Amino acid sequence: MLAGGIGGARFLRGLKDALDNREAPTTTGTEITVIGNTGDDITLFGLRVCPDLDTVMYTLGGGINEEQGWGRADETFSVRTELAAYGMQPQWFGLGDRDMATHIVRAQMMAAGYPLSAITEALCDRWQPGVRLLPMSDDRVETHVLVNEGEGQRAIHFQEWWVRHRAAIDAESIVSVGAADAKPAPGVLEAIDTADFVVLPPSNPVVSVGSILGVPGIREAVAATTVVGVSPIIGGAPVRGMADACLKAIGVRTSAEAVAAHYGADLLDGWLVDEADAHTRVPGIEVRALPLYMSTPETTEAIAAAALDLAGELSGVDTGRSTR
Ligand code: GDP
Ligand code: CA
Repeated sequence: MLAGGIGGARFLRGLKDALDNREAPTTTGTEITVIGNTGDDITLFGLRVCPDLDTVMYTLGGGINEEQGWGRADETFSVRTELAAYGMQPQWFGLGDRDMATHIVRAQMMAAGYPLSAITEALCDRWQPGVRLLPMSDDRVETHVLVNEGEGQRAIHFQEWWVRHRAAIDAESIVSVGAADAKPAPGVLEAIDTADFVVLPPSNPVVSVGSILGVPGIREAVAATTVVGVSPIIGGAPVRGMADACLKAIGVRTSAEAVAAHYGADLLDGWLVDEADAHTRVPGIEVRALPLYMSTPETTEAIAAAALDLAGELSGVDTGRSTR
């Protein structure tokens, strides 16, 4: 699976539940490899913060703030208050005390020369997410947004646009700085090549899945296997978040159909859309409609089960049947 933050992590929980409730012997011991987006990563106060990797790790490891969807449960913000008292910037990014421990470990390992993939593995030793979590690349790839507020064009970090400005300033374009020279992290291409199929969860198609596919070699590898995606757009709107602002910046309409066409029939084999989008037709892509709101563990599991069914059909791999 290629995953961003919240949408990816929630879907993964459903996928693990769906695999637990299947009868085919072939699905017991199934391994899930998650290739996480690192385009959102940012250095703050000397610490490297990887929001999407951490959201997946905390969600599957039981440490997530459930209401918020990101950050640690039962968080406190003493360090942030103290930093603000010193006038330290930025103050628009909330780093909690518990969360900060993760970033301190990461920063220390980075300073000691460890690549992000090894650091992620070490952090997962504590959280035991039950999946193999790989960053898309060990190289620094950062999403920047070109904005123009009248004083000429400037590039700001994706997090500044997203968190500070709530994507309310028009983005002229979105660039993945460093992508052209980046290499997939160790294990990424091997995992894709040996996978029965690849699932694209309802993650942001531009700044999450799009940045992963932008690492040279990954898109080609994914296109060579069976790919089933879950639409992050329902009835012409993103379910939560501001994915529409990202789609607008790259000139793609906010619809389940336009997102599938943007991924392309060379990449995508199957596409799950909400019942509100049952009319969706994309040449070369098999479309199925079902309720796509991940509102409860049960509905999320049903979406994942449908993805397994479709992936099984399209790839010829026996994905078993749901026992629910
Ligand atoms: P982020 O890193 O926190 O932005 O999370 P992702 O990259 O995983 O993308 C979140 C996207 O998932 C949002 O833009 C929504 O469009 C989509 N999304 C969130 N909740 C749901 C849901 O319940 N159902 C579906 N189909 N999509 C969702
Ligand atoms: Ca993200």
